[in-house]
Amino acid sequence: MTAADTLVLANFIDGVLAPPRAARYLDVFEPATGAVFARCPDSDAADIDAAAQAAQRAFPAWSALSADERAGHLQRIANLLHERLEEFALAESRDTGKPLTLARSLDIPRAVSNLRFFAAAITQFASETHATSDSLNYTLRAPLGVVGCISPWNLPLYLFTWKIAPALAAGNTVVAKPSEITPLTAFMLAQVCIDAGLPPGVLNIVHGSGAATGQALIEHPAIKAVSFTGSTRTGVAIASTLAPKFKKVSLEMGGKNATVVFADWDASEANLATIVRAAFANQGQICLCGSRILVERSIYDRFKSAFVEKVRALRVGDPNEAASDLGAVVSQAHFDKVMGHIALAREEGGHVLCGGEQVRVDGRCADDWFITPTVIEGLGAAYRTNQEEIFGPVATLIAFDNDEEAIALANATRYGLAASVWTSNLSRAHRVGAQLESGIVWINCWLRRDLRTPFGGVKDSGVGREGGVEALRFFTEAKNICVAL
Ligand code: NDP
Repeated sequence: MTAADTLVLANFIDGVLAPPRAARYLDVFEPATGAVFARCPDSDAADIDAAAQAAQRAFPAWSALSADERAGHLQRIANLLHERLEEFALAESRDTGKPLTLARSLDIPRAVSNLRFFAAAITQFASETHATSDSLNYTLRAPLGVVGCISPWNLPLYLFTWKIAPALAAGNTVVAKPSEITPLTAFMLAQVCIDAGLPPGVLNIVHGSGAATGQALIEHPAIKAVSFTGSTRTGVAIASTLAPKFKKVSLEMGGKNATVVFADWDASEANLATIVRAAFANQGQICLCGSRILVERSIYDRFKSAFVEKVRALRVGDPNEAASDLGAVVSQAHFDKVMGHIALAREEGGHVLCGGEQVRVDGRCADDWFITPTVIEGLGAAYRTNQEEIFGPVATLIAFDNDEEAIALANATRYGLAASVWTSNLSRAHRVGAQLESGIVWINCWLRRDLRTPFGGVKDSGVGREGGVEALRFFTEAKNICVAL
């Protein structure tokens, strides 16, 4: 690709696509080839200020619209996105390195669903009343004003829309910052918003690095609340900045999720395929991936051989090819981090059962960031390999002897985002599910998402909940009115 072919992305401020004021840009890489294919604004505090002011100006009119009218705007954006699904899926795959089939079946359809879901949800958002013999309390829920939404690179448009949709539906105006590593589909969404007739300033999208643009966004005095998804390290930095400013904050952060397989599980091909997918979907770069697989000792060897055989059969290849199960990881830095973790596992005494290597993919992908799906055994729960989030195609196997040990192992990390439990014993499923320190537990399934359910983590995985009414509550302020009867 020549410099002339490089896409130049723009911010979306006050309804127009605008270059960054200081005219500085960051390179955007295509993970499958390692080549720069776009440049995205490296915005600074002046761009954030322009966006925040535009959002402040737009707030009175936007918040005064009826829920139906705001829902109509979100529906129009969703419909246009749906019409352009293929174009967006191609862009998402190119920007992240994920298989095109995944972007087409998961990422973009889910972005459409997010917009449609919150368009519908806001029309059903009821407030509470509490009556006594001498008074009636009712709760009003008002939008907060201008809010900040910060999203990561692993599911770019999926998580970007998961935040902006409830924020806008509830009547807020938004300044959003997508990850600088994967800015393409958020940039394209700006044009969709223009085509859908979204009023200027209601949604502003400012690109740039976390340290400069993200920090300027959360510090801006007009920003009343911040909804963040990303690493626990960044979550700590954001929480520290926001605490003395008393801004509302929702933090969705890292995970080290357990997949707990009991001897009485239904060992069907389909279930095994789901456990493999839970570990390796999106190259293991989903916060919900089950990267620690705990298996009851009596079936450990049998499970291990079936699992490893299935993992070996996964094809790592060009994200554009329909046969590729895994594409590239997102960046050189992330490739180095994941390979570093595999080296660490070997140093710790782990036994690599399969994978653990860079893959050379022929053709346009030669020499880049592809890693064979890796399974490691022989390390106890306390090893760094089983404690630190790797966020790549790496899973470990650990044996356990009984329910108590399974629960203790599953809970033995600082994280608590998600878990899955595999058993035919319903009482055990409920008992274990209740004792796992985790915001989400799937029983005999994984990643079945009903958008009405509360979503989020405990311990170092998160503060607050997203999804359904929880998101609408986060993006509104409650006021109780008590009337004497
Ligand atoms: P990061 O924390 O590095 O970045 C997340 C976002 O925050 C990016 O847009 C980043 O900008 C921005 N950012 C970084 N520093 C600051 C700052 N000081 N102020 C404001 N914004 C900032 O996470 P990754 O992008 O690497 O995403 C992977 C992580 O996300 C994993 O830990 C994963 O578990 C977690 N995650 C959690 C989910 C959940 O629901 N709990 C879902 C998906 C992922 P930039 O990238 O431009 O520097």
